[in-house]
Amino acid sequence: MEERKLDIWIFNLEIAEGRSFSGHKESLDWLASQGFAVIPDIIMAQTADQVWAGIQHIADIRYSLNYGLDGAVVKVDDLQMRRELGMTSKVPRWAVAYKYPPERQETVLEDIVVQVGRTGKLTPLAILKPVRLAETTVSKATLHNQDFINEKDIMIGDAVVLQKAGDIIPEVVSVVKEKRPADARPFEMPRFCPVCGAPVATDDGGINIFCTGESCPAKDARGIIYFASKDAMDIEGMGPSAVEALISEGYIKDVSDIFTLKQHKERLIEEGIIGREKSVSNILAAIDRAKENGLNQLVTGLGIRGIGKQTAKILTSRFRSMDQIMAAKPEELMELQDFGETTAGDLVNWFEKPANRELIEKLRAAGVRMEMEEVQAAGDQRFAGKTFVLTGTLSRYTRDQASAIIESFGGKTSSSVSKKTDYVLAGEAAGSKLTKAQSLGVAVISEEEFEDMIK
Ligand SMILES: [Zn+2]
Repeated sequence: MEERKLDIWIFNLEIAEGRSFSGHKESLDWLASQGFAVIPDIIMAQTADQVWAGIQHIADIRYSLNYGLDGAVVKVDDLQMRRELGMTSKVPRWAVAYKYPPERQETVLEDIVVQVGRTGKLTPLAILKPVRLAETTVSKATLHNQDFINEKDIMIGDAVVLQKAGDIIPEVVSVVKEKRPADARPFEMPRFCPVCGAPVATDDGGINIFCTGESCPAKDARGIIYFASKDAMDIEGMGPSAVEALISEGYIKDVSDIFTLKQHKERLIEEGIIGREKSVSNILAAIDRAKENGLNQLVTGLGIRGIGKQTAKILTSRFRSMDQIMAAKPEELMELQDFGETTAGDLVNWFEKPANRELIEKLRAAGVRMEMEEVQAAGDQRFAGKTFVLTGTLSRYTRDQASAIIESFGGKTSSSVSKKTDYVLAGEAAGSKLTKAQSLGVAVISEEEFEDMIK
């Protein structure tokens, strides 16, 4: 906490053995008396008017506080009344949040530059005259694509209104047309990649454009940075500066080269481009550990368009090895949750490219794990040989969590209902899978019944 400059305010007391409280404020005061830092700006209100006045007051002092906030929470103080009010299936009936509208600021859009992402996507980025907005200085904002620029009629030199989406990411809301200078210039996305000069092409929808260069350095560097990032292979110490240094010194050209770095240990230490002996040893050890990562992390790291952290998990829960993924047909992939025609097609195309197949073989040869770890056969195997299909929205688990529970008891999950399905676990708003299960006479269980089964 010290190092990262993190701080905390306690906003609730769940349980204190041997003590009972009648009100929320009383419990917070007690926490404060025990030395806990408790949120200081609490307003006690007796009437709806007082609640509203409190919300207004917090809005007024919002930007003078030494912490950020995006709303106020109105709660019932009386703990007995809270128990009587209870919960809906998702939220308590005794608390509600009020969200403040985001702060807006005007500034000048001084230039538009084009960035090339790890998938080769070209994104226009607004370079702004720095302005204070919701407690940070903003000097850049994404303009997404040419359509966004056209719709908002954005020109270089324009005065623009900014706000932060979700109070985090700055976005251009509109142009102040009255202030458009005479020398304002329209912007067109380039027809060639600003990094490697290869022609660009649009994707299916025609909204986004991509660099077609086979070996675009922008794609390479960003791709490798992404591969090593927390979201993917999580290799500690392999951040952007280490990756860029290793690329420019010729140590790595693609992600598989990461795993051969240890052959250059002495030289790396001598040259010091990624630190001295200790850092080099630490990074090499982190690389070694990453070889044992889950297949989902590896698949995420490949940076295939449409395959992020979540989709990679879904993919590897069905296709348990790299070979199975490479052999998967588009129609099989489209049975998976979140896999549409485009994603399935992009995945198949990616693995059809010889250069990508070669990359996979290099990773395999380097000892990177290409299979999902099979669940240990030890322990409670009550679902052994049973296949579950999940459908609809579960209230207590994500689908991933429910699948993990089923697998931990030796069962399997499948994405489509057939005669071989043993149970269909149906959440809220279950659709065609439920109908199919009923027509095939497959047992349909509710979330409550599932809970009983796993007790
Ligand atoms: Zn390029």
